[in-house]
Amino acid sequence: MSLNISEILNHLHINDNNGAFSTGSKWGGGKGDSIKTIYSPVDGKKIASVQMAGEADYNTVITQAAEAFKQWRTIPAPKRGEVVRQVGEALRTKKQELGALVSYEMGKSLQEGYGEVQEMIDICDLAVGQSRQLFGQTMHSERPEHRMYEQYHPLGIIGIISAFNFPVAVWAWNAALAWICGDVCVWKPSEKTPLTAIACQHIVQEVFERNGVPEGVSCLVIGDRVIGELMSNDNRVPLISATGSTRMGKAVGAAVGARLGRSLLELGGNNAIIVSQYADLDTVLIGAVFGAVGTAGQRCTTTRRLIIHESVYDQFKQKLVKAYGQIRIGNPLDEHNHMGPLIDKDAVQLYLDSIEKCKAEGGKFVVEGGRLEGADYASSCYVKPCIAEVENSYKIVQHETFAPILYLIKYKTLDEAIELQNGVPQGLSSSIMTNNLREAEQFLSYAGSDCGIANVNIGTSGAEIGGAFGGEKETGGGRESGSDAWKVYMRRQTNTINYSTKLPLAQGIKFDL
Ligand code: NAD
Repeated sequence: MSLNISEILNHLHINDNNGAFSTGSKWGGGKGDSIKTIYSPVDGKKIASVQMAGEADYNTVITQAAEAFKQWRTIPAPKRGEVVRQVGEALRTKKQELGALVSYEMGKSLQEGYGEVQEMIDICDLAVGQSRQLFGQTMHSERPEHRMYEQYHPLGIIGIISAFNFPVAVWAWNAALAWICGDVCVWKPSEKTPLTAIACQHIVQEVFERNGVPEGVSCLVIGDRVIGELMSNDNRVPLISATGSTRMGKAVGAAVGARLGRSLLELGGNNAIIVSQYADLDTVLIGAVFGAVGTAGQRCTTTRRLIIHESVYDQFKQKLVKAYGQIRIGNPLDEHNHMGPLIDKDAVQLYLDSIEKCKAEGGKFVVEGGRLEGADYASSCYVKPCIAEVENSYKIVQHETFAPILYLIKYKTLDEAIELQNGVPQGLSSSIMTNNLREAEQFLSYAGSDCGIANVNIGTSGAEIGGAFGGEKETGGGRESGSDAWKVYMRRQTNTINYSTKLPLAQGIKFDL
């Protein structure tokens, strides 16, 4: 399929030199003192330039967002939900163009680009329903003629820091819920993928303008970690939702913690599938290969380790090697290809370094990696997905390399397999492939997987928005999206009302005047 990128950019209001920040209808920056040119990892060509925001720009945005919050919180939640419903509708009409730009700017396959926009639509749908269900509980008071209940109020400004690999969905997961909760959002997208963010801001703004939503409810600041640091240290921003590497999360968590703010951290994973001797190996193959090479291994939920029972190890290894031989690598806009490029040349270098480190520790490659050269790979960002036999204890195996390197580890007993699966610093996604009920239940029990996501007979990669998404340990502990994740965007208040003519004290304390 051939896509006309300049038409898509035009349609999504991306020009050649885009402003550094937006509070809605107003765009600013553009003084030209700090410009970043964005090149596509697909073909290495320039897509457009953006201005990078400075501290003054950031302050302009926060001031406007704080003003907007005073108005937005007064709009009834179901009415806010109606606006979010229209955002979902607008995304439906732009799904093809926005999905294609996600693919072209980030490098994931076109199908995955569309899938990412679909996730945004899905979270809008979820948020609309949630807008009528911001429930608190009522309790029975121990005092006569008293009523007790709890309610949830909006928090204020939500700072959203996002990663390059899900350049738009992660923002939508946060923003759609935050908006129905009555909050306003300030988004700092990854400096590697600002154009899709600019496109989203335009899409939202058209809907907001039609509905008279105050300027500042949806804000965008284009910048690198410096803007992220300003946000993390800013008392005016009660919640920072940050998605990215564990290194980043530790810095953000420390800064926000030092001011006793709230942080929602969605960080790196080191996800494993346990392949039992009771598994249907053909099903496993699809889950494992998609999990390992989808998005070129650049998903937080990418399958990085396969922990395989010794009795099926050789058989499954052969299947894998054969399947890897069939993977088509190339332009992700061509729907025949399975795998596109890495995000940039630095990512390629990290991938190559990890392969060397793995070999130095004793890793044995059964499918060799390497950079792909030639006219089809002109951006120099294309690599081969590879597979190595390793020990779980290798330093490189304990570390998340954001690239398509799959590690194979052998096990004898399920207890050992679970220990290996849990034996890494990260705790995002995990899976067991088995048709044995006892094994599945043990894996899901308190003595099983220690991850935020634990699956049976599906892989580690990808998640539905209905569940709470996030992970334990160095993955940061945050939860986004479905279930009761909305609560993090609100503050809880407990209220006690006395409708008697006396003032009894709790715990029977007497205080007579
Ligand atoms: P990154 O940590 O380099 O950058 C992420 C974002 O944080 C960017 O916007 C960046 O500008 C900002 N940032 C970096 N340092 C900062 C600091 N000190 N203070 C404030 N902001 C800072 O990550 P990346 O390379 O863009 O993304 C890949 C990583 O993201 C992987 O580790 C992946 O597993 C993780 N990720 C996790 C999830 C999840 O839900 N758990 C989802 C997507 C990606």
